[in-house]
Amino acid sequence: MRHDPLPPYQTQASLPDLPFAMIDTLIRAEAAEQGLDLHDGHGRSTWCKLPDGGEFGAKMGPTGSILYVRAHARDRLHDLCKTVTHRLVGHLPDLRPAWSSLDRPGAHPPNFSLARVAGVTRIAADFLRLRLEGGDMGRLSRDLIHFRLVLQPRGTTVPAWPVIGDDGRTVWPKGAATLHRPAYTVRHIDPAAGWLDTDIFIHDGGRACDFAACAAPGTVVGLTGPGGGGIVQAGSLLIGGDETAYPALARTLEAAAADVRGECHLFGARSDYPLPDHPGIRIIHTPGGEAVLADRLRQEGTNARRIWLATERSRLAPLKTAILDDLRIDKAQAHLAAYWSA
Ligand SMILES: Cc1cc2nc3c(=O)[nH]c(=O)nc-3n(C[C@H](O)[C@H](O)[C@H](O)COP(=O)(O)OP(=O)(O)OC[C@H]3O[C@@H](n4cnc5c(N)ncnc54)[C@H](O)[C@@H]3O)c2cc1C
Repeated sequence: MRHDPLPPYQTQASLPDLPFAMIDTLIRAEAAEQGLDLHDGHGRSTWCKLPDGGEFGAKMGPTGSILYVRAHARDRLHDLCKTVTHRLVGHLPDLRPAWSSLDRPGAHPPNFSLARVAGVTRIAADFLRLRLEGGDMGRLSRDLIHFRLVLQPRGTTVPAWPVIGDDGRTVWPKGAATLHRPAYTVRHIDPAAGWLDTDIFIHDGGRACDFAACAAPGTVVGLTGPGGGGIVQAGSLLIGGDETAYPALARTLEAAAADVRGECHLFGARSDYPLPDHPGIRIIHTPGGEAVLADRLRQEGTNARRIWLATERSRLAPLKTAILDDLRIDKAQAHLAAYWSA
């Protein structure tokens, strides 16, 4: 019997035709592959605990199995259901778990909310700061710092947003109504006052850039998330990225304790983005300098306890090779992310 409290948000799906032994094997394989903390309840249930305190598992049903997911936040529960469904359908393509949803069909999914443009400010030659205001900002102020802007196709007069379908899954508008969903970083947020700032790098042909450049106060956008990673923390840091990563670098510099040491590499063309000062982290501006840093790392190695680098996919490649293949630094120590593709 377990003694720890259950996460408060739960949902389950009855799978009467799926023998428990089969789902038990799948959960054990998933736990081994992902390095998850596996538990079993005397052969009648099997579950994995996740690093954020959530869990997923299965128990014997009256016939077949009952799959369940538990989380500490409503939006996280929704994400977990999606992930578990996706992984399961990968093994058993005919399976369609119908989650006992907490959400009414037709409502927006819990990791989605609407916000209004409060204002747009130019903060550097190539950056616009978009302030958005609305309800449910609290979920975007937790550990994860990224979200997706959800934008209507240009010229839309009757906006369509994602809703929960009858089977509990999210239904996104399709065809001409397909929404644009680029990832961005929360730069500042005040959940109590109901606003967040995100900093948008202006580049040719960018739909989000065009939106921000023209958005009138009151224009409605969607927000999904949070997602992506959190703020990297360690006593010594090697961080860097191109313009799209500058807001995340700013969050990292702001959060780093005064005794943290390290380097912050800016690979973008300009360096006028407002980054916070940090006494122990040196800012190094080398436009397009990903390959140069990769060579240096290959020759000199690094003492940094944690590495965080994000840039364009092909420019990230030499850094990945140097750090993961040549220096054989553990993936858990190095977050190397492609933020966009040329
Ligand atoms: C986790 C995460 C967090 C991110 N945070 C931020 C952030 O805070 N601020 C930010 O500005 N970006 C951020 N990005 C990058 C951003 O999501 C992409 O640049 C995205 O494509 C921008 O959408 P768009 O509508 O402007 O361009 P799209 O309409 O999607 O793309 C149009 C064209 O622009 C090109 N393109 C996309 N990005 C760039 C670029 N940076 N430079 C030149 N050409 C480009 C595309 O290849 C495409 O050809 C983040 C990405 C990730 C994965």
